[in-house]
Amino acid sequence: MAYDSENIFAKILRGDIPCNKFFEDDHVLAFHDIAPQAPTHILVIPKGAYTSYDDFAMNASDEEILAFTRAIGKIAAAAGVVEDGYRLISNTREHGRQDVPHLHVHIIGGKKLGLMLPRD
Ligand code: 5GP
Repeated sequence: MAYDSENIFAKILRGDIPCNKFFEDDHVLAFHDIAPQAPTHILVIPKGAYTSYDDFAMNASDEEILAFTRAIGKIAAAAGVVEDGYRLISNTREHGRQDVPHLHVHIIGGKKLGLMLPRD
């Protein structure tokens, strides 16, 4: 899948549209989800143009991967969800119901969550 530089998270990274920023470093940006599904719902994205976790894992530099992995842990701790627990989700392409085609990990917590997947 080619990277679409007009996706909404690319626009947030360029500063074309605002976000409620939670964390930023050289490689990573994290911000609150616009439609939170729990008291804590933060999106963590790499600054590089990667569509999905598999794209990132195969094509990002070691430095980017290290920064992204560490940032997710740091952000979870800073958001105060580590003790009680939380969920990481990275929806991917059609079957994963990915809406925004720029890699993002949802950090969701702050309450006891429902089943991992609805039984449908
Ligand atoms: P996906 O379905 O791709 O895994 O998740 C995309 C997420 O991005 C959704 O949870 C949605 O609420 C969030 N989102 C979509 N547009 C915006 C936006 O403009 N700003 C923020 N902060 N979140 C957004």
